[in-house]
Amino acid sequence: MASDEIPLSRPDVTELEIELVAAVLRSGRLALGPMQERFEQLVADRAGCEYGIAVSSGTAGLHMALLALGIGPGDEVITTPFSFIATANAILYVGATPVFVDIDRVSLNMDPHKIEQAVTPRTKAILAVEAFGNPAQMDTIAAIAGKHEIPLIEDCCEGLGGSLKGRPIGSFGRVGVFSFYPNKQITTGEGGMIVTDDDRLADICRSLRNQGRGAKDVSWRNPTGAWLEHVRLGYNYRMSEIHAALGVGQMRRLDVILEGRERVARRYFERLIGNSDIIMPTISPYTRMSWFVFVVRLASDFTAQERDRIIADMRRHDIGAANYFPPIHHQPLYRELLCDAPPHLPVCESVSQRTLALPFHSQLTDREIDLVIQTLEVILRREGLRRM
Ligand SMILES: *Cc1c(COP(=O)(O)O)cnc(C)c1O
Repeated sequence: MASDEIPLSRPDVTELEIELVAAVLRSGRLALGPMQERFEQLVADRAGCEYGIAVSSGTAGLHMALLALGIGPGDEVITTPFSFIATANAILYVGATPVFVDIDRVSLNMDPHKIEQAVTPRTKAILAVEAFGNPAQMDTIAAIAGKHEIPLIEDCCEGLGGSLKGRPIGSFGRVGVFSFYPNKQITTGEGGMIVTDDDRLADICRSLRNQGRGAKDVSWRNPTGAWLEHVRLGYNYRMSEIHAALGVGQMRRLDVILEGRERVARRYFERLIGNSDIIMPTISPYTRMSWFVFVVRLASDFTAQERDRIIADMRRHDIGAANYFPPIHHQPLYRELLCDAPPHLPVCESVSQRTLALPFHSQLTDREIDLVIQTLEVILRREGLRRM
């Protein structure tokens, strides 16, 4: 693409992060060190949780959260079809069965009423997502999990820094998982973080990420403790000091980054709110969004083919656009698992045909935003003319 392209997303990294990473490289301690602990504390505090366990990715964190809760073959986990595929894949990793529940048309999160209907004696967890950083109804979902005495796992990979009624994203579940992939609010390149108040779960997760070593004895302060004793089947899901240093710098700048993203979202709202071809995101009261991506919906008279053509046209103009998200239960892998008889989830299926993610990151300038909107409006007019 040309140098004046406007990408869909872009990490916000400054000299502060570069200096912190360089300091780690000079220190000689590249894994299992103090940076990991600092990063864990910063994220746990922000999520309103006691413990943070840094891991190699959000996907690894979800896998470990399910393992730590003892979920396995024969168990059902209720989850959303409207997410990135890693949410449901984590359920498959442990041999359990994902049970997809339709979403709410407004919040795009799982519909609490339909969660209740999907609970069976085999339900062992609810795996809920704050879609695009919107915590709407997370309190209701947590209450349903509590009522049925099943744990809520919060896939909060898209929501760092947001809150609902003053309660931070990451604090609704028995365990929560953040991602620091480069398109997320903050990045470590690759990385993730498990958060929880449960000290037993935290210990199991520390052990699981570190080849099943006995968690208590093994820290960077006492690496010889039980280094070669493995008490369970573990993984190498650790985060390096280099990644953690980048994360520490990003956490120090989190509020600046979130404000930048808020500014971009506001401008999109101001400029697009009167356009009858476009349905803007709805933010319910007492909600602080943590804007992950900016996804609008095309009006109901648009088809999926028209939406896809609009995305292709945007890209031809060097402007990033994407169809976040195709339903997970329609992905080829899940079609096969569901024996070509996927559940009918009408809201998800209808909404996902018309969603359109626009370029979104903290440094997008007003000029760039206006260019995105002008281009989109020209393309929409052309689509309108084609129909006549
Ligand atoms: C990004 C994301 C993940 C996966 O995180 P990785 O760090 O890329 O493994 C999982 N769930 C959701 C909802 C995500 O947005």
